[in-house]
Amino acid sequence: MKKFALKILIIIFIFSLTKCVNASSTTTPLFVLKPSTVIQGEPVIITFENVKISEIKNITYDKKSLNIFLYNNKPTAFLAVDLYQKSNIYEVSVILTSGKIIKNNLTVNERTKKVEPMAVPDKLGGNSSSNQRAVVSELAKENTELSKTFTGKKAFWTDKFVWPVADHFVTDEYGYTRQTGIYNISHKGLDLRAKAGTKVVAMNRGVVRIAKNYQTYGKSIVVDHGLGLSTIYMHLSKINVNVGELVKPGQVIGLSGQTGYAEFPHLHLSIRINQISIDPEKFMDFFD
Ligand SMILES: [Zn+2]
Repeated sequence: MKKFALKILIIIFIFSLTKCVNASSTTTPLFVLKPSTVIQGEPVIITFENVKISEIKNITYDKKSLNIFLYNNKPTAFLAVDLYQKSNIYEVSVILTSGKIIKNNLTVNERTKKVEPMAVPDKLGGNSSSNQRAVVSELAKENTELSKTFTGKKAFWTDKFVWPVADHFVTDEYGYTRQTGIYNISHKGLDLRAKAGTKVVAMNRGVVRIAKNYQTYGKSIVVDHGLGLSTIYMHLSKINVNVGELVKPGQVIGLSGQTGYAEFPHLHLSIRINQISIDPEKFMDFFD
């Protein structure tokens, strides 16, 4: 009798196990946008559920392909909404290797853009209109060079991103416009309070692609985290790393300062996803 009861139990166990397997194999693959409503210049983290990274053929937003990597053991992608992306509802579309297509909507709302005047400091030749033109054209040139930075074919990081300065405090936010004479310069990064000589650390594991003294960006470092993601540290007083060097999260890579187009010591931080500079504060929210 005991044996019979045991057999029944085993049968029930196997039956429920098969049910479990069936349930998970029929669970629909999906992806979640966090957040699904943003304003211009904000990033989105996309997390996949019930699908392996090898089963995802392609993910696109506004007809551009996004890079997929593993984070917390789940296929993940970052999406960058440009500061000047038209406000609208955009489709994020995924094609699986099975041929199945999954779609989600991303709502992009208008950002209220503040405008503030900013003079060219005396150390860069003063605020004459010809000098304003020279500074703006130099900025464009340096920006073009930064935009061509090489990026690795895999993610170099696995853990959370950390702030580049201890006790970070934002003195100038992302996304407003600085008016220099007749020119508008978008502030596509964050200014963090940092006394001259404050230690600046790498926000995550990555490879140094640029370590250079620019005329307007000052002493700058670009760390490539792979797959189009980079962090940029500007106006430094000292650079401690060399191009090609692999840096660890939290490693001191330089000291803050006010080199280049900066009127007081601070750290300018930019984060780029496929060369689109997004609001670093929103990016860091992903790792709370
Ligand atoms: Zn700045």
